Amino acid sequence: MLGDLSPPPALTVLRGVFGHADFRGGQEKAVDAVLAGGDAVVLLPTGAGKSLCYQVPATCLARAGRGTTIVISPLIALMNDQVGALRGRGIAAAAIHSQQEDDEQREVIAAFVRGELTLLYVSPERAALDSFKRLLGRVPIALFAIDEAHCLSQWGHDFRPEYLRLHELRELAATARVPMIALTATATPRVMREIATALVLRTPTVVRGDFRRPNLRFEVRHFAGDRERIAATLAACDELGLRNRFGTGRAIIYCSTRKKAETVAEALRGAGFPAGYYHAGRTALARDRAQDAFAAGKTRILVATSAFGMGVDHPDVRLIVHFQTPGSLEAYYQEAGRAGRDGQPSRCLLFFGQSDLMTQRKLARGGDASDLRVEDMLAAMERYARAHRCRQAMICAHFTGTDDHAACANCDACSDPDAVADAHEAPEAASPLGTDAERVILEALAGLGRPVGKMALARALRGSNAKSVTAHGLHALAQHGALVAASEDAVAATIEALITSRKLVRRGKKYPTVGLPGPSTSTRAVARKAARTTRPHNGLGRALDAFRRAKARELSWKSYMVFQRRTIDAIEATRPSTEAELARVPGLGPAKIARFGPALLELIRRHA
Ligand code: ADP
Repeated sequence: MLGDLSPPPALTVLRGVFGHADFRGGQEKAVDAVLAGGDAVVLLPTGAGKSLCYQVPATCLARAGRGTTIVISPLIALMNDQVGALRGRGIAAAAIHSQQEDDEQREVIAAFVRGELTLLYVSPERAALDSFKRLLGRVPIALFAIDEAHCLSQWGHDFRPEYLRLHELRELAATARVPMIALTATATPRVMREIATALVLRTPTVVRGDFRRPNLRFEVRHFAGDRERIAATLAACDELGLRNRFGTGRAIIYCSTRKKAETVAEALRGAGFPAGYYHAGRTALARDRAQDAFAAGKTRILVATSAFGMGVDHPDVRLIVHFQTPGSLEAYYQEAGRAGRDGQPSRCLLFFGQSDLMTQRKLARGGDASDLRVEDMLAAMERYARAHRCRQAMICAHFTGTDDHAACANCDACSDPDAVADAHEAPEAASPLGTDAERVILEALAGLGRPVGKMALARALRGSNAKSVTAHGLHALAQHGALVAASEDAVAATIEALITSRKLVRRGKKYPTVGLPGPSTSTRAVARKAARTTRPHNGLGRALDAFRRAKARELSWKSYMVFQRRTIDAIEATRPSTEAELARVPGLGPAKIARFGPALLELIRRHA
């Protein structure tokens, strides 16, 4: 009976078995290619419907007696979801994986050997085993489908070495002529070539989908620290009405580390939002609960690491915030692409700061990727974050390798180009300003010896001579203009942060003022102490601090203009030894490296 029947038309199966009226863009071409016995590479964005590209031919071929389709899938949860959904449609599907009882596994293998399965899902590790290949020799195989094929790319963000052995599936005499289809949402032209080469595909039909997501609004915000990030996250969640337990729409907040995910979830809860969190460090039970509560809409916000999301398909995710910049544009688009699956307007907000790149470097050091690859991916991510052009067009250019994509008229660069340009002129200046600025504020209040209105102080520190400043004598402060590079909001936010951390107190109801804590006679001492505690302690830190003070005197600059405390911290942490390495330190641009680079490197060498 093998191959006796001709397969039913794909459209009949699509309609009758899967219940869809028509193929979506790209699907039919892929289906036709494999039904004709050829290979295919399918590049479709997340949510476009890749699974049907092999499930429809698998069903057609099984009905014609051509055997079982083997699907290689990297994630057990994903396999289980798919198998469940297929069985729900009456299709004989099963999976073999490591989390199965032996009995169940034996049953699946027996059904496979009897030729009863239309689709068999296996992990890449399993597929590489000789025992599995021996099994393949005993059963007719209709098709090999390699899902998440970018996992074979060492340049990608999900490298799985076993994927490199998948070409061996067709090295058996019995499987040599079986077609192979590789699918991914994250292929750049380079990765696509790698897929075709590593799987030894035979003149594959290439299906390249439309990577645009016109209903998504892409935005980037430049933030150095968490305070502004949390404020912006709360504001975005508020805008969607997510404080209410009931309603439609939900949000995912992605963080790079588990600790950050917990901190952000706590901040959201503290502000009255029902929010859960999900990361791989939690127990399976806690993860399931978080996922279920989010799926059921009990918590409309989920704060998660990248461990959350593969195979998750909620249609009404209205907001995706990347609280920290991820390690690659591929990872970013895959995660952001989980917004607006129902086609309704949704927002993808990326927070970017130099410290995010440092975090990614630290995370990558524990992985397989070499520094060169990591740097390559981070450079693309940074270009995206710093660009002034249409974000959607940039993403499409990245994924397709062509540069002819129309602007989306929806992202921040399209709809608010001035704001985007400003953000790039002073990317970190609008940040919560860090310990240098805190010291300036404390010293100004110590010098003043009395409390003062918050906004008047903020304006004075930015160099304003407005009446509210001169009326209080603030133009005479030694620190007048010391924070000229920062926005008024950022200075005010930094003052608020000092109040929260109790280094300053707010007094008075009708005309509130801010001042140093304790009786005003002791304010100078308190300020001196507070300022001292923010100074660096170790040898190199002290030397760098002294260096910037000396340079500041020499150049008649403020010391923070030479470089900021976070730059000192970063130099201490990374101990650069070349100018190229210095260039990776936040706050050191080419001009500063040209001016101070050699002296800095010498200083670092002396403190090695
Ligand atoms: P991907 O793997 O590309 O992320 P899926 O295969 O999970 O996407 O499909 C995403 C959603 O689109 C699923 O809910 C699926 O049922 C639906 N879908 C796929 N193809 C079609 C189609 N031709 N018509 C309607 N819905 C489709």
